Amino acid sequence: MARQASTTTANSASSASSAASSAGSVTGSASAGNSSVPSISLASTNPTAVPLTAIVASQATTVTKPLPSTPAAGAQPTFIPGAPPLPDISTLAPSKYPPLDQPPPVDSPEVKEWIAEVARTGIVIPDISPTVDGGCPANAAAAADKNRCWWTCTGCTRSTDITSCPTAMDWGLTYDDGPGFYTPNLLEYLDSQKLKSTFFVVGSRVVQFPRTLQYEYMSQHQIAVHTWSHRPLTEQSNVQIIAELGWSRKVIKDVLGVTPNAMRPPFGDIDDRVRAISVAMGLTPVIWTRLSPQVTFDTDDFNIHNGQTSVYKVLQNWKNILGNVSTINTGFVVLEHDLFQESVEVATGYILPDALAHNPPFSIKPVSQCVGRSLSDAYIETNNNQTHPPALEAALAG
Ligand SMILES: [Zn+2]
Repeated sequence: MARQASTTTANSASSASSAASSAGSVTGSASAGNSSVPSISLASTNPTAVPLTAIVASQATTVTKPLPSTPAAGAQPTFIPGAPPLPDISTLAPSKYPPLDQPPPVDSPEVKEWIAEVARTGIVIPDISPTVDGGCPANAAAAADKNRCWWTCTGCTRSTDITSCPTAMDWGLTYDDGPGFYTPNLLEYLDSQKLKSTFFVVGSRVVQFPRTLQYEYMSQHQIAVHTWSHRPLTEQSNVQIIAELGWSRKVIKDVLGVTPNAMRPPFGDIDDRVRAISVAMGLTPVIWTRLSPQVTFDTDDFNIHNGQTSVYKVLQNWKNILGNVSTINTGFVVLEHDLFQESVEVATGYILPDALAHNPPFSIKPVSQCVGRSLSDAYIETNNNQTHPPALEAALAG
């Protein structure tokens, strides 16, 4: 989720009455004559989409789907040369991990080892004070301090960061905050359209849904780190950041047999201190495309669930993203989520069908592929260190 909703400007207002489903069709406002419900023009929608009027915060729980299949222990990920067989997760014990959705303790043997690991790299962690809760308004001095390179408040990035795809019309597809109850609904749609995504997963939810993570991985989606408990990282101490990244990295390795080498900071909340720790732990920061403080490629889909936005505003954000795509000569990365049913419904019912009908066509792929790497390069154990050195090796060589 993003902490600051992107400012949006309406750029299309076509309307029609039918809830149509094929390319070239238009989804009009669901209640014609109700001026409070805006019309959104989409090139295509899913015939089985949940109606827009039903995608609301107070929505009744809809049916969750089972995973299309359950990967077997020992299955070989043949699409990644040299990858180990899939671990047996029948014995995965939640008691061996920190409490779900809580910041991990910093005095465990595991965290002590990861602190030593970071120290051994020799990478200097900048002496930057943690921020306080409340974002940019509550941290005026830090927000104005360009030396921090605090993305949240200034959009500052470093050469370590991935924020877009280099090739025009390439879309680095990403879903954050899962795995969740509705992730299989998204996976079923992605399968049906042969789409591959990057999933930035929350470590504690991997403990809850390990088979979903295995299915994502075996379906050739990219798996990456989104911390253990989804706290804003610039507010954490160095050891807290190490614990958040370390436990997420560890549970993914325990479930998949491979260790991701990319991370997305929750809320995009990253500065040079968070960057240095991430890189020292072998994790390349991935954010999302931002053209200006007001123009970010954030659908804000997460906020339908809590009532802070509507599905109509989210689709308008999507249309604005499409408009901005036409103004840039690179590809792009968009922020979406798979934790709540509303986000999955808007993705599978509207955003992805519209994107697939876009002309000129998008090339939709995981972030690792959009930056010219193979899926093998997305994991520490299978990365080609010669041609695509991971973040840590690149930092040490530079
Ligand atoms: Zn998130």
